[in-house]
Amino acid sequence: MSWQPAENRYERMTYNRCGKTGLKLPAISLGLWHNFGDDTPHQIKRDMCRAAFDLGITHFDLANNYGPLPGSAELAFGEILKTDFHGLRDELVISSKAGYHMWPGPYGEWGSRKYLISSCDQSLKRMGVDYVDIFYSHRFDPDTPLEETCGALDHIVRSGRALYVGISSYNSQRTREAVEIMKGLGTPLIIHQPSYSMLNRWVEDDKLLDTLDDVGMGSIVFSPLAQGMLTTKYLQGIPEGSRAAQSKSLKTEFIRPEIIDNIAKLNTIAEKRGQTLAQMAIAWVLRGGRVTSALIGASRVSQIEDCVRALDNRDFSDAELAEINVYAKE
Ligand code: NDP
Repeated sequence: MSWQPAENRYERMTYNRCGKTGLKLPAISLGLWHNFGDDTPHQIKRDMCRAAFDLGITHFDLANNYGPLPGSAELAFGEILKTDFHGLRDELVISSKAGYHMWPGPYGEWGSRKYLISSCDQSLKRMGVDYVDIFYSHRFDPDTPLEETCGALDHIVRSGRALYVGISSYNSQRTREAVEIMKGLGTPLIIHQPSYSMLNRWVEDDKLLDTLDDVGMGSIVFSPLAQGMLTTKYLQGIPEGSRAAQSKSLKTEFIRPEIIDNIAKLNTIAEKRGQTLAQMAIAWVLRGGRVTSALIGASRVSQIEDCVRALDNRDFSDAELAEINVYAKE
Protein backbone atom coordinates (compact mmCIF):
# COMPACT_ATOMS: atom_id res chain seq x y z
CA MET A 1 0.00 0.00 0.00
CA SER A 2 1.27 3.48 -0.78
CA TRP A 3 2.34 5.79 2.04
CA GLN A 4 -0.31 7.87 3.75
CA PRO A 5 0.70 10.93 5.81
CA ALA A 6 0.01 10.80 9.55
CA GLU A 7 -3.43 12.12 10.40
CA ASN A 8 -2.10 13.94 13.46
CA ARG A 9 0.66 15.74 11.52
CA TYR A 10 -0.49 19.23 12.45
CA GLU A 11 -0.87 18.58 16.17
CA ARG A 12 2.68 18.93 17.43
CA MET A 13 4.29 21.54 15.18
CA THR A 14 4.06 25.27 15.83
CA TYR A 15 3.42 27.49 12.80
CA ASN A 16 4.80 31.01 12.95
CA ARG A 17 3.67 33.94 10.86
CA CYS A 18 6.36 35.01 8.41
CA GLY A 19 6.87 38.69 9.21
CA LYS A 20 3.72 40.66 8.56
CA THR A 21 2.41 38.34 5.85
CA GLY A 22 -0.36 35.79 5.66
CA LEU A 23 2.13 32.94 5.23
CA LYS A 24 2.89 30.70 8.19
CA LEU A 25 5.96 28.51 8.35
CA PRO A 26 6.67 25.58 10.63
CA ALA A 27 9.03 26.48 13.49
CA ILE A 28 11.34 23.83 12.05
CA SER A 29 11.84 23.41 8.29
CA LEU A 30 13.90 20.87 6.36
CA GLY A 31 16.63 21.86 3.91
CA LEU A 32 17.85 19.59 1.10
CA TRP A 33 21.37 21.01 0.69
CA HIS A 34 23.16 17.80 1.74
CA ASN A 35 22.02 14.16 1.63
CA PHE A 36 19.57 14.71 -1.24
CA GLY A 37 22.06 14.44 -4.07
CA ASP A 38 23.04 11.54 -6.31
CA ASP A 39 25.35 10.21 -3.57
CA THR A 40 22.42 9.29 -1.28
CA PRO A 41 20.02 6.40 -1.99
CA HIS A 42 16.59 7.68 -3.04
CA GLN A 43 14.80 5.67 -0.35
CA ILE A 44 16.64 7.60 2.40
CA LYS A 45 15.47 10.90 0.87
CA ARG A 46 11.89 9.61 0.67
CA ASP A 47 11.98 8.40 4.25
CA MET A 48 13.26 11.76 5.50
CA CYS A 49 10.66 13.76 3.59
CA ARG A 50 7.83 11.51 4.75
CA ALA A 51 8.99 11.60 8.38
CA ALA A 52 9.35 15.38 8.27
CA PHE A 53 5.89 15.86 6.82
CA ASP A 54 4.40 13.46 9.38
CA LEU A 55 5.90 15.66 12.10
CA GLY A 56 4.28 18.79 10.68
CA ILE A 57 7.25 20.06 8.66
CA THR A 58 5.45 21.59 5.71
CA HIS A 59 8.37 23.60 4.38
CA PHE A 60 11.14 22.09 2.24
CA ASP A 61 13.99 24.34 1.18
CA LEU A 62 15.98 23.79 -2.01
CA ALA A 63 18.25 25.67 -4.37
CA ASN A 64 19.25 25.20 -7.99
CA ASN A 65 22.72 23.90 -7.06
CA TYR A 66 21.90 21.43 -4.26
CA GLY A 67 23.32 18.02 -5.05
CA PRO A 68 25.81 16.62 -6.00
CA LEU A 69 25.36 16.88 -8.99
CA PRO A 70 23.93 20.41 -8.96
CA GLY A 71 20.20 20.11 -9.64
CA SER A 72 19.93 16.55 -8.36
CA ALA A 73 18.24 17.52 -5.06
CA GLU A 74 15.49 19.28 -7.02
CA LEU A 75 15.14 16.25 -9.31
CA ALA A 76 14.87 13.93 -6.28
CA PHE A 77 12.35 16.18 -4.58
CA GLY A 78 10.37 16.33 -7.84
CA GLU A 79 10.17 12.52 -7.74
CA ILE A 80 8.95 12.62 -4.14
CA LEU A 81 6.31 15.20 -5.10
CA LYS A 82 5.05 12.80 -7.78
CA THR A 83 5.02 9.74 -5.53
CA ASP A 84 4.79 10.20 -1.76
CA PHE A 85 3.59 13.81 -1.80
CA HIS A 86 1.18 13.33 -4.70
CA GLY A 87 -1.95 15.38 -4.03
CA LEU A 88 -0.28 17.30 -1.20
CA ARG A 89 1.08 20.31 -3.12
CA ASP A 90 -1.24 22.75 -1.36
CA GLU A 91 -0.03 21.56 2.04
CA LEU A 92 3.59 22.28 1.16
CA VAL A 93 5.78 25.37 1.05
CA ILE A 94 8.60 24.72 -1.42
CA SER A 95 11.42 27.17 -1.92
CA SER A 96 14.30 27.43 -4.35
CA LYS A 97 17.06 29.93 -4.99
CA ALA A 98 19.58 31.16 -7.53
CA GLY A 99 22.79 33.05 -6.88
CA TYR A 100 25.68 30.59 -6.69
CA HIS A 101 27.44 28.94 -9.62
CA MET A 102 25.08 26.71 -11.57
CA TRP A 103 26.27 26.53 -15.17
CA PRO A 104 29.33 27.70 -17.11
CA GLY A 105 29.68 31.12 -18.62
CA PRO A 106 28.62 34.62 -17.55
CA TYR A 107 24.89 33.80 -17.15
CA GLY A 108 25.15 30.91 -14.69
CA GLU A 109 25.60 32.68 -11.31
CA TRP A 110 25.11 35.88 -9.26
CA GLY A 111 22.12 38.21 -9.62
CA SER A 112 21.33 39.21 -13.20
CA ARG A 113 17.81 39.07 -14.56
CA LYS A 114 19.11 36.69 -17.25
CA TYR A 115 20.37 34.21 -14.65
CA LEU A 116 17.59 34.43 -12.04
CA ILE A 117 14.70 33.94 -14.45
CA SER A 118 16.28 31.14 -16.48
CA SER A 119 17.44 29.39 -13.32
CA CYS A 120 13.97 29.63 -11.81
CA ASP A 121 12.54 28.04 -14.96
CA GLN A 122 15.07 25.21 -14.72
CA SER A 123 14.18 24.62 -11.06
CA LEU A 124 10.46 24.43 -11.84
CA LYS A 125 11.17 21.92 -14.59
CA ARG A 126 13.41 19.75 -12.39
CA MET A 127 10.81 19.62 -9.64
CA GLY A 128 7.90 19.26 -12.07
CA VAL A 129 5.93 22.10 -10.46
CA ASP A 130 4.20 25.14 -11.97
CA TYR A 131 5.42 27.45 -9.23
CA VAL A 132 7.51 27.55 -6.06
CA ASP A 133 6.12 29.14 -2.94
CA ILE A 134 9.26 31.15 -2.23
CA PHE A 135 12.04 32.08 -4.63
CA TYR A 136 15.25 33.66 -3.29
CA SER A 137 18.12 35.70 -4.51
CA HIS A 138 20.71 33.40 -2.91
CA ARG A 139 23.37 36.08 -2.40
CA PHE A 140 23.92 39.78 -2.92
CA ASP A 141 25.68 40.53 -6.22
CA PRO A 142 28.00 43.51 -5.88
CA ASP A 143 28.29 43.90 -9.66
CA THR A 144 24.63 43.84 -10.70
CA PRO A 145 22.39 46.81 -9.86
CA LEU A 146 20.12 45.76 -7.00
CA GLU A 147 17.24 47.22 -9.05
CA GLU A 148 17.90 44.53 -11.69
CA THR A 149 17.97 41.64 -9.19
CA CYS A 150 14.81 42.96 -7.52
CA GLY A 151 13.15 43.52 -10.89
CA ALA A 152 13.80 39.87 -11.72
CA LEU A 153 12.24 38.77 -8.40
CA ASP A 154 9.22 40.97 -9.09
CA HIS A 155 8.86 39.43 -12.55
CA ILE A 156 9.16 35.92 -11.12
CA VAL A 157 6.16 36.61 -8.89
CA ARG A 158 4.10 38.49 -11.48
CA SER A 159 4.64 35.75 -14.07
CA GLY A 160 3.37 33.11 -11.62
CA ARG A 161 6.68 31.32 -11.14
CA ALA A 162 6.68 32.05 -7.37
CA LEU A 163 4.12 33.16 -4.82
CA TYR A 164 6.60 35.04 -2.63
CA VAL A 165 10.21 36.16 -2.84
CA GLY A 166 13.08 36.46 -0.40
CA ILE A 167 16.77 37.16 -0.07
CA SER A 168 19.54 35.15 1.52
CA SER A 169 22.67 36.31 3.34
CA TYR A 170 22.16 40.01 2.49
CA ASN A 171 23.39 42.31 5.28
CA SER A 172 21.10 44.83 6.99
CA GLN A 173 21.98 47.70 4.71
CA ARG A 174 21.42 45.73 1.50
CA THR A 175 18.25 44.28 2.98
CA ARG A 176 16.83 47.74 3.62
CA GLU A 177 17.74 48.82 0.09
CA ALA A 178 16.12 45.73 -1.44
CA VAL A 179 12.98 46.19 0.68
CA GLU A 180 12.57 49.76 -0.60
CA ILE A 181 13.06 48.75 -4.24
CA MET A 182 10.61 45.86 -3.95
CA LYS A 183 8.08 48.09 -2.23
CA GLY A 184 8.31 50.46 -5.18
CA LEU A 185 7.73 47.56 -7.56
CA GLY A 186 4.70 46.38 -5.56
CA THR A 187 6.04 42.90 -4.69
CA PRO A 188 7.09 42.74 -1.04
CA LEU A 189 10.12 40.78 0.08
CA ILE A 190 8.69 38.57 2.76
CA ILE A 191 11.59 36.51 4.08
CA HIS A 192 15.31 36.58 4.74
CA GLN A 193 17.45 33.43 4.95
CA PRO A 194 20.64 34.08 6.94
CA SER A 195 22.96 31.66 8.74
CA TYR A 196 22.56 31.76 12.54
CA SER A 197 23.59 29.53 15.40
CA MET A 198 25.20 29.76 18.83
CA LEU A 199 28.53 29.52 16.99
CA ASN A 200 27.71 32.00 14.22
CA ARG A 201 26.21 35.26 15.37
CA TRP A 202 26.77 37.65 12.48
CA VAL A 203 23.06 38.47 12.38
CA GLU A 204 23.37 39.85 15.93
CA ASP A 205 26.46 41.93 15.09
CA ASP A 206 24.76 43.23 11.94
CA LYS A 207 21.45 43.85 13.80
CA LEU A 208 19.75 41.96 10.98
CA LEU A 209 16.93 40.63 13.18
CA ASP A 210 16.14 44.22 14.28
CA THR A 211 16.11 45.25 10.63
CA LEU A 212 13.73 42.43 9.75
CA ASP A 213 11.39 43.35 12.63
CA ASP A 214 11.51 46.93 11.48
CA VAL A 215 10.62 46.19 7.85
CA GLY A 216 8.13 43.43 8.67
CA MET A 217 10.03 40.54 7.08
CA GLY A 218 10.21 37.00 8.44
CA SER A 219 13.39 34.97 8.88
CA ILE A 220 14.38 31.36 8.35
CA VAL A 221 17.83 30.69 9.76
CA PHE A 222 20.06 28.11 8.14
CA SER A 223 22.60 25.78 9.78
CA PRO A 224 21.24 26.25 13.34
CA LEU A 225 23.28 23.16 14.31
CA ALA A 226 26.43 24.64 12.75
CA GLN A 227 26.32 21.77 10.23
CA GLY A 228 26.24 19.17 13.01
CA MET A 229 28.88 20.66 15.31
CA LEU A 230 26.16 21.63 17.81
CA THR A 231 25.32 17.99 18.45
CA THR A 232 27.15 15.28 20.36
CA LYS A 233 28.37 13.69 17.12
CA TYR A 234 31.94 15.09 17.20
CA LEU A 235 32.61 14.74 20.94
CA GLN A 236 34.54 11.49 20.50
CA GLY A 237 36.18 12.22 17.14
CA ILE A 238 34.87 12.36 13.59
CA PRO A 239 32.42 9.52 12.92
CA GLU A 240 32.44 7.74 9.58
CA GLY A 241 29.83 9.06 7.16
CA SER A 242 29.40 12.37 9.03
CA ARG A 243 29.54 15.65 7.13
CA ALA A 244 33.00 16.43 8.47
CA ALA A 245 34.26 12.97 7.47
CA GLN A 246 33.07 13.62 3.93
CA SER A 247 35.08 16.87 3.85
CA LYS A 248 32.19 18.66 2.18
CA SER A 249 31.22 22.05 3.55
CA LEU A 250 32.27 21.21 7.14
CA LYS A 251 36.04 21.14 7.19
CA THR A 252 37.81 18.93 9.72
CA GLU A 253 39.90 21.93 10.80
CA PHE A 254 36.72 23.37 12.39
CA ILE A 255 36.64 20.40 14.79
CA ARG A 256 39.41 21.73 17.03
CA PRO A 257 39.95 20.37 20.59
CA GLU A 258 39.14 23.73 22.26
CA ILE A 259 35.84 23.93 20.35
CA ILE A 260 34.96 20.35 21.22
CA ASP A 261 35.65 21.08 24.93
CA ASN A 262 33.19 23.96 24.76
CA ILE A 263 30.63 21.83 22.92
CA ALA A 264 30.90 19.23 25.69
CA LYS A 265 30.10 22.03 28.20
CA LEU A 266 27.11 23.09 26.10
CA ASN A 267 25.98 19.48 26.07
CA THR A 268 26.03 19.47 29.89
CA ILE A 269 23.76 22.55 29.89
CA ALA A 270 21.42 20.81 27.44
CA GLU A 271 21.33 17.69 29.61
CA LYS A 272 20.38 19.79 32.64
CA ARG A 273 17.51 21.20 30.56
CA GLY A 274 16.43 17.65 29.71
CA GLN A 275 17.28 18.15 26.02
CA THR A 276 19.79 16.88 23.52
CA LEU A 277 22.34 19.44 22.40
CA ALA A 278 20.73 19.56 18.94
CA GLN A 279 17.38 20.36 20.57
CA MET A 280 18.90 23.11 22.70
CA ALA A 281 20.66 24.64 19.70
CA ILE A 282 17.38 24.80 17.77
CA ALA A 283 15.42 26.14 20.76
CA TRP A 284 18.14 28.78 21.17
CA VAL A 285 17.72 30.25 17.67
CA LEU A 286 13.94 30.26 18.15
CA ARG A 287 14.10 31.90 21.60
CA GLY A 288 12.03 35.03 22.05
CA GLY A 289 10.01 34.39 18.90
CA ARG A 290 12.12 36.60 16.63
CA VAL A 291 13.01 33.90 14.11
CA THR A 292 10.16 32.44 12.04
CA SER A 293 11.73 29.05 11.34
CA ALA A 294 14.90 27.07 12.09
CA LEU A 295 16.11 25.46 8.86
CA ILE A 296 17.79 22.17 9.67
CA GLY A 297 19.44 19.52 7.55
CA ALA A 298 19.51 15.80 8.27
CA SER A 299 21.13 12.59 7.07
CA ARG A 300 18.56 10.25 8.63
CA VAL A 301 15.02 10.14 9.98
CA SER A 302 16.06 9.85 13.65
CA GLN A 303 17.77 13.26 13.45
CA ILE A 304 14.59 14.92 12.25
CA GLU A 305 12.63 13.26 15.06
CA ASP A 306 15.22 14.43 17.58
CA CYS A 307 15.24 18.00 16.24
CA VAL A 308 11.46 18.40 16.31
CA ARG A 309 11.44 17.57 20.01
CA ALA A 310 13.29 20.90 20.50
CA LEU A 311 9.84 22.46 20.54
CA ASP A 312 9.04 20.76 23.87
CA ASN A 313 11.34 23.15 25.76
CA ARG A 314 11.92 26.53 24.14
CA ASP A 315 12.32 28.75 27.22
CA PHE A 316 15.68 29.77 28.62
CA SER A 317 16.45 31.37 31.96
CA ASP A 318 18.80 34.35 31.97
CA ALA A 319 21.33 32.17 33.81
CA GLU A 320 21.17 29.50 31.07
CA LEU A 321 21.63 32.09 28.32
CA ALA A 322 24.60 33.59 30.14
CA GLU A 323 26.20 30.17 30.63
CA ILE A 324 25.67 29.33 26.95
CA ASN A 325 27.42 32.57 26.01
CA VAL A 326 30.48 31.51 27.97
CA TYR A 327 30.97 28.34 25.92
CA ALA A 328 29.35 29.14 22.57
CA LYS A 329 31.95 31.23 20.84
CA GLU A 330 32.61 31.67 17.15
P1 NDP B 1 22.28 22.05 10.25
O1 NDP B 1 23.09 23.03 10.98
O2 NDP B 1 20.95 21.65 10.82
O3 NDP B 1 23.19 20.74 10.01
C1 NDP B 1 22.62 19.54 9.54
C2 NDP B 1 23.52 18.37 9.90
O4 NDP B 1 23.58 18.24 11.31
C3 NDP B 1 22.97 17.05 9.40
O5 NDP B 1 23.35 16.79 8.08
C4 NDP B 1 23.55 16.07 10.39
O6 NDP B 1 24.92 15.83 10.09
C5 NDP B 1 23.53 16.87 11.67
N1 NDP B 1 22.31 16.66 12.47
C6 NDP B 1 21.05 17.14 12.24
N2 NDP B 1 20.23 16.79 13.22
C7 NDP B 1 20.96 16.08 14.11
C8 NDP B 1 20.65 15.45 15.32
N3 NDP B 1 19.42 15.54 15.84
N4 NDP B 1 21.64 14.79 15.98
C9 NDP B 1 22.89 14.71 15.47
N5 NDP B 1 23.24 15.29 14.30
C10 NDP B 1 22.27 15.98 13.63
O7 NDP B 1 21.90 22.61 8.83
P2 NDP B 1 22.57 22.52 7.35
O8 NDP B 1 23.94 23.07 7.39
O9 NDP B 1 22.34 21.18 6.78
O10 NDP B 1 21.64 23.57 6.59
C11 NDP B 1 20.23 23.37 6.61
C12 NDP B 1 19.61 23.94 5.37
O11 NDP B 1 19.83 25.35 5.30
C13 NDP B 1 20.18 23.41 4.04
O12 NDP B 1 19.69 22.15 3.70
C14 NDP B 1 19.71 24.50 3.10
O13 NDP B 1 18.35 24.29 2.81
C15 NDP B 1 19.87 25.75 3.93
N6 NDP B 1 21.15 26.44 3.66
C16 NDP B 1 21.08 27.63 3.02
C17 NDP B 1 22.22 28.33 2.69
C18 NDP B 1 22.09 29.65 2.00
O14 NDP B 1 23.09 30.18 1.51
N7 NDP B 1 20.90 30.22 1.94
C19 NDP B 1 23.57 27.79 2.98
C20 NDP B 1 23.53 26.55 3.74
C21 NDP B 1 22.35 25.92 4.06
P3 NDP B 1 25.45 14.49 9.37
O15 NDP B 1 25.08 14.68 7.93
O16 NDP B 1 26.91 14.53 9.64
O17 NDP B 1 24.73 13.33 10.01
